[in-house]
Amino acid sequence: MIFRKKDFLLQLSEEENAHMHQEQVKIMYKQALASVFALFFGALIVVYIFASTPLEKPVLVWLAAVSITLIWRLWALNSYYTYPDSYDNKIFEKRLVYAMYASAIVWGSVAFFIFKSSSLSQQFFLIFLLTGIASVASGTLASLLKVAMIFLALLLVPLVVVIFFHGGFEFKMMGIFIVIYYLLLISASKRININIKSALTSKILHEKATKELDLSEEHFETIFKEAPTGIFFYNNDLIVLNSNAEMLNILKISQERMVGLDLNNLPDPCLNEAVSAHQRGEKGFYEGPYTTMINKLQLWITLKTSPIYDANRTIIGGVAIINDISERMIVQEKMQHQAYFDALTDIPNRLLLEDRIEQSLAQYRRHRNLLAVLFLDLDHFKSVNDSLGHHIGDTLLIETAKRLVSVCREGDTVARLGGDEFVILLNELGTDPHLAATRAEVVAEKIHDILSKAFDVGLNEPIITSSSIGISLVSSDEHTADDLLKFADTAMYQAKKEGRHTTRFYQEQMDQWIKKQIFLENGLRNAIKNGELEVYYQPLVEVKSKNIVGAEALLRWNHPTMGLVMPDEIISIAEECGLIIPIGDWVLQEACAQFVSWKNKHSRGSEMKRLAVNVSVIQFRQNDFVSKVTDIITQTGIEPSMLEIELTESVIIEKMDMIIEKMKQLKTLGIGMSMDDFGTGYSSLSSLKQLPISTLKIDRSFIRDIIENSDDAALVETIVAMASIFKLDVIAEGVETMDQLKFLEYFNCRYFQGYVCSKPVKVEEFEVLLETNFISSLEIL
Ligand code: C2E
Ligand code: MG
Ligand code: MG
Repeated sequence: MIFRKKDFLLQLSEEENAHMHQEQVKIMYKQALASVFALFFGALIVVYIFASTPLEKPVLVWLAAVSITLIWRLWALNSYYTYPDSYDNKIFEKRLVYAMYASAIVWGSVAFFIFKSSSLSQQFFLIFLLTGIASVASGTLASLLKVAMIFLALLLVPLVVVIFFHGGFEFKMMGIFIVIYYLLLISASKRININIKSALTSKILHEKATKELDLSEEHFETIFKEAPTGIFFYNNDLIVLNSNAEMLNILKISQERMVGLDLNNLPDPCLNEAVSAHQRGEKGFYEGPYTTMINKLQLWITLKTSPIYDANRTIIGGVAIINDISERMIVQEKMQHQAYFDALTDIPNRLLLEDRIEQSLAQYRRHRNLLAVLFLDLDHFKSVNDSLGHHIGDTLLIETAKRLVSVCREGDTVARLGGDEFVILLNELGTDPHLAATRAEVVAEKIHDILSKAFDVGLNEPIITSSSIGISLVSSDEHTADDLLKFADTAMYQAKKEGRHTTRFYQEQMDQWIKKQIFLENGLRNAIKNGELEVYYQPLVEVKSKNIVGAEALLRWNHPTMGLVMPDEIISIAEECGLIIPIGDWVLQEACAQFVSWKNKHSRGSEMKRLAVNVSVIQFRQNDFVSKVTDIITQTGIEPSMLEIELTESVIIEKMDMIIEKMKQLKTLGIGMSMDDFGTGYSSLSSLKQLPISTLKIDRSFIRDIIENSDDAALVETIVAMASIFKLDVIAEGVETMDQLKFLEYFNCRYFQGYVCSKPVKVEEFEVLLETNFISSLEIL
């Protein structure tokens, strides 16, 4: 490649240009020694030619001059090679260059011998000799172009002048030729000079690149070795090739064990995706827990991987960078624990308690599942602390916390607010406020019992203590965690005022609740008489055919001021005040009559095979229940095999013997028996076998999450399979989506009820539904 001067300047820095100049001088020095001998030999020939001629003496003088210039050169050479480190010294350059110039002048002076030469051949020999030297010098001195030009000029100009003025036309022509020859030599020198410079530039740039590469390799090596981060390389077969010290430190293994490790065999598969990402030319990332392959250390790591390439951009493996953040995670977990747990007793603190109460409130708003907050304060704790010291006080608190935890269920929360104040959150108390209050009271009693037992705190005498408990029950969607804590706190103070070792409910709330109960109870007494009760019907649909094949009768109360009241509120009150008996009879009578009317009058009446009526256990327990049912069957004319009486699972389990007896009587009449809300109680397989039931109704809480929750799905599948073994019909309750329905079909569940077909509706609306049928609405879809 040929460079122009501009190119050199562009490529090289000032320092590098100086370095190149030194290199040029060096080249000249290298050439200089050989030419010393050549020139001395040439000088001897000149002496030989002119020996025994009139020029002998001047030639000998000339020889002396030549010798001086050559010795000068040898001296320059000698000092140069003796002190090579100083070759960049300008003096070296000058020494040799001036010796060259001197030599050129001396040799140029040979031209003057031409005048005096007697023969033409001697003249030609001299011309030949000088042009020859010029030719060689144009090459040897080309590394420094200026020197070459001056050298050639000093050598040839005298010759040109002498020849030009020496003779006739031929000599003049020869002079002109020598000038042309001079120009050609200069041009050749120039070309050689450019080539030398180009070669030197390449050499310098290459040296520079090599140095930079060495340097960056050195940097990389330092980073790799010293990085406070684990780094390792592996090939495309996922075999580890190299790793740094930090990596070995993280894994606590030696380099020998690390190198050659096969990442295909990681026992903890969480890294697989990240370490093989390079094979697709992608970066990989993982953050999370990791169990090491060899030492089984439990770490928390972040891992980043990237592909590595060869010179042809082919992926040859990957590099992984690992940070062990276990300590950070431990600290984080510890901090989180400290933020949510009480330091003394290690039970939840106020923050976590409030969070849990809010969660339970959300559950209450969605499913009406009640919760209670118990506020507890140890009686006379302050005097224990003051008289026996803080240490004993602390021990008492720790022991109290343990006892509280021991009486609560797993889903409940025992928290310490500070001092001797504890709070217990009771979840899932059911939907009946009365029952929920009773359950909360039972827990409070248990707490009183367990805390009144003597505490052994390492003193001679055990400590006897008691507690005051305030309870608040959620009773409104508007209630917050703060409200419930405030209510319970108020109730606790009430309890303390009333003599300690007692439990009090938050009165205002209880008052409101009791007022509402009394209000509803009074209203309910006249509801039947005033025609305010109504039976709604929810279609029962066959899963496979999607045909409506029956209905469930569900009670509604059209209250004159409160609007529509749902059975959840009616039934518990009615059960308590005994009104459930006339109401239940009325529902049964009403539903059977309606069913018979559909069978006889409705165009699709013949397809209605089943009427389900819910019966309360109080109703069921009545001695004359079976005869009442028989009467209603006779009066209404309903086919007994089409009537199905529903009892909830929890009720059946409680009064097993009596219920079984009555069920058997009903069964002999041909009436079907259904176990409602199946799954919410604790019926065992053996109890199922004992009961003369014909149908299981899977509670809607299992159907709700059947798609997302694999446990629920498995449970439903098992219930269906189990029912088929016991030859029972299965009805899935609360089916709200087509997806849930598809699942049930897949599990071979025979029937369903739910909003996906219809909510419970009035008689007239049910008739429209029956007319159009569910399958037809699906066809429209
Ligand atoms: P149940 O017998 O399990 O009745 C099913 C309940 O689920 C009904 O509530 C119904 O409206 C509701 N439901 C049906 N499909 C869906 C659905 O897809 N999604 C949702 N979220 N809910 C659905 P309802 O009418 O409020 O009745 C509640 C409970 O009251 C009944 O539960 C039953 O145990 C009782 N009950 C109703 N009527 C009477 C009655 O006349 N006598 C007695 N003793 N109890 C009754
Ligand atoms: Mg039911
Ligand atoms: Mg049910």
